[in-house]
Amino acid sequence: MTGIPTTPPRPFDVTTVFPDLAPLARAATRLHPRPGSPSPQDSSIGGPLLWPADEPWPHCDEPHVVDGVNPALSPAEVRLERRIRAASRGRTLTPEERETLERIRPPQEYPVTVAIAPYEGSIAMLPVAQLYAHDVPDLHTPEGADLLQVLWCPFDHSAGMPKTALFWRSAATVTDILATPPEPPAVQFDGYVPAPCLLNPEQVTEYPDHRDLSKELREQIGDWSLWQAAETDVDSAYASYPHEFYNLELSVAPGWRVGGWPGWGAIDPHPLLCPTCGSDMDALLTIATFETGDGKSWLPHQEPAHEPSIGFNHTEVQIGSGYNQQVYVCATAPEHAHTDLMH
Ligand SMILES: [Zn+2]
Ligand SMILES: [Zn+2]
Repeated sequence: MTGIPTTPPRPFDVTTVFPDLAPLARAATRLHPRPGSPSPQDSSIGGPLLWPADEPWPHCDEPHVVDGVNPALSPAEVRLERRIRAASRGRTLTPEERETLERIRPPQEYPVTVAIAPYEGSIAMLPVAQLYAHDVPDLHTPEGADLLQVLWCPFDHSAGMPKTALFWRSAATVTDILATPPEPPAVQFDGYVPAPCLLNPEQVTEYPDHRDLSKELREQIGDWSLWQAAETDVDSAYASYPHEFYNLELSVAPGWRVGGWPGWGAIDPHPLLCPTCGSDMDALLTIATFETGDGKSWLPHQEPAHEPSIGFNHTEVQIGSGYNQQVYVCATAPEHAHTDLMH
């Protein structure tokens, strides 16, 4: 790593053009995960958890199905395949490497016969994120907790997403750490095995998706003459749809982040209510396929400008065909049952 990924200064202060946005400013922490070797004492993605030795490891007992098109590899096989691909980048594979890759993923015979089979037994969950409150300013922990651990079952459950489980904990109460947690025998997709990453948390200011704004504010943001009058230097290609520029470049940050506003993407905004107590729910964690979206203003300073498939998916996580999995928690009691949405 050559430097700390840092969001460039915003293109301009959007509240000077649209002062009514000012009270809607909300802090978010971009996590900027980058490959590393985290310890249980580190905040991480895909790293080892500070898990008490005497506490059962989370398992998923819901039904699981595998099909013949996406052979269910073990996490170890996924990691080995990634190591070989990374080591051989820019050269041809050695015969040993090719043999290993073919053993992991035998070449398919065509036509492919799709055998769909239930996967028997309970599946050990995989660590997704470990966040210490002292590293992540926008992590609002329940009373007595200073650590959030997120795991998932690496199979699709509702709405085509892996099923997440959240654990709030006080780090000081963990004395004996579980040294070798169980691993799932298989994962449904490679993208459900997060590669170990250390975090570079950075606080940014977000504003709501334009569809979450009042009618008056939506109209202001859609009025190109206000942008011109403020001399914002926004490309006139946006003259017919300035809300696009607002959404991409000024509202919600792309990538892994904690807190901030919901990034609705292709789905329509809708209120989310806690299934336990009916309170509003807050965006807790965004599990992102890509570190950067179409909004160039969020591209960290040190990143190469165009290398999307290599440079921008350090965690190797893939949700759907390139979406985000956003975890929402109860604003009143974060320990209430949470909700996942794919945007
Ligand atoms: Zn499961
Ligand atoms: Zn609640």
